[in-house]
Amino acid sequence: MIAYLEHFVHGNDTESRPDDDVIALSKRLDLQLKGTFDCTDTPTSIASKDFGGMKSLKPLAFIGPADADDVARVVKAAATSSNLTVAARGNGHSINGQAMADQGLVLNMRTMEDLFQVTSINGSPYVDVSGGALWEDVLRRCVLGYGLAPRSWTDYLSLTVGGTLSNAGVSGQAFRYGPQTSNVTELEVVTGKGDTIVCSENQNSELFFGVLGGLGQFGIITRARVVLQPAPDRVRCIRLVYSKFEEFTEDAEVLVSQQEGGFSYVEGFVFVNNDDPANGWPTVLLDPDQEFDPTHIPNTAGPVLYCLELALHYRNTDHVSDVNMDVDRLLGGLRFIEALRFEVDVEYMDFLLRVKCAEDEGKANGIWDAPHPWLNLLVSKSNILEFDRVVFKKILNNGVGGPILVYPLLRSKWDSRTSVVVPESEIFYIVALLRFNPAAPKGPPAELLVAQNQEIIQFCCHRGFDFKQYLPHYQTQEDWKRHFGNQWTRFVERKANFDPMAILAPGQKIFSRIP
Ligand code: FAD
Repeated sequence: MIAYLEHFVHGNDTESRPDDDVIALSKRLDLQLKGTFDCTDTPTSIASKDFGGMKSLKPLAFIGPADADDVARVVKAAATSSNLTVAARGNGHSINGQAMADQGLVLNMRTMEDLFQVTSINGSPYVDVSGGALWEDVLRRCVLGYGLAPRSWTDYLSLTVGGTLSNAGVSGQAFRYGPQTSNVTELEVVTGKGDTIVCSENQNSELFFGVLGGLGQFGIITRARVVLQPAPDRVRCIRLVYSKFEEFTEDAEVLVSQQEGGFSYVEGFVFVNNDDPANGWPTVLLDPDQEFDPTHIPNTAGPVLYCLELALHYRNTDHVSDVNMDVDRLLGGLRFIEALRFEVDVEYMDFLLRVKCAEDEGKANGIWDAPHPWLNLLVSKSNILEFDRVVFKKILNNGVGGPILVYPLLRSKWDSRTSVVVPESEIFYIVALLRFNPAAPKGPPAELLVAQNQEIIQFCCHRGFDFKQYLPHYQTQEDWKRHFGNQWTRFVERKANFDPMAILAPGQKIFSRIP
């Protein structure tokens, strides 16, 4: 391995070269680690890519830590240099290089030891998993081995536990259980000082809440204890079409206010009012046998329509008639277009793994590997109608080539002690522009779509909206200050306490490395 390092250092005369201290440090690390230290071309170029496909920063090395001790060794080694940074890379599903480290050390969290321990504390079940575990593996092992499952998910599960907990982790269950950051009770974290610390609400709580939604700034999550509940067997999935945004939002808000006895999952999306296969009517169908009959759309409808996406968990022992009755009770009084109601029943795991099929399809046609200039916003209820009038109906009236999610969340389910910042109002909407376009020249240039995202952000700013970026991306500290608002001081204090030399997560571009 060291030979490769010499090659890397001397074979790239035109690139910035690590200084002698860094070479010595790398050699030392190579010998100390139980895991792997790799600075050859292929691994480092994997670490210089992410799902966004728009940014590339080559690290000095791609390190496969075996356990938390390895992670601590790497951070401590970086601290002895004047400029080295360390980025934990989960599964690299960021959009804007957040898991990259330019000439720094990237940790491949996927190689961490296979930790999976189900425990019962005061009669309630939990699972301890590695920070580098994929949620899809956590799901399979919990359901198949124990009939249990985490309560709060993301839509797509090839994401790591540490990666989503560093942001929030949101899906259709969050209205009831909060984001994933509200569903862990203990973490093991390696701080920017290289200390390995177990933390929870009652033990080292500042670190615990700091790391949750902390964008990787305060520590690297090596273990998380996730709340579990009995897993259902099956899920009734329902899609309901609306032509009026006001009715769509009012109904969605009623549904998220029903906690016990309500739906298990509430999401929604915008689609284009035409037959376009990627943006229009066909995107609503849940099954190839279903048909979308556009004659049922009122002629007062605009360029876009809306769809509530709901799910109800049930057990194999439940009678279908009881499930039907429950669904009818919950749908009573909603104002969707009756003839545009679609339903299917699926296995619970298939429901949670539903995006995997889209991934397989996208990989086959190249769209999965094209650039993804995505934008995620959290927009206050008080601004969402105006957002619809301008953004959905005008700026995005031809769609984004993929889903445009929009559904309500409840602020009271988000713990304000975590580092995540959300709008002020109790109800706010997540808006996700999940662009899936072929790479240019077949599709639009990514820069054009980034500019469209900027236009939307600018519009929200100029109108004085109460909104935040989710999975935020900014270029300057001034922008980050604005993003965190009155939480900025707390964020800076946490940085000073837990990563005073700003070694961690340089790809977020919040703090500069202190020599
Ligand atoms: P990475 O992209 O590898 O890392 C993200 C950030 O977290 C980086 O700053 C990194 O340094 C840091 N980090 C990674 N691991 C750790 C760790 N162990 N400890 C500390 N910091 C760490 N999000 C949702 O909330 N809901 C969704 O439904 C959803 N769906 C998605 C679907 C797709 C197809 C994609 C590409 C993304 C989706 N996301 C969703 C966004 C996703 O949650 C974030 O991009 C998340 O950061 C990705 O996780 P990752 O494991 O790939 O992390």
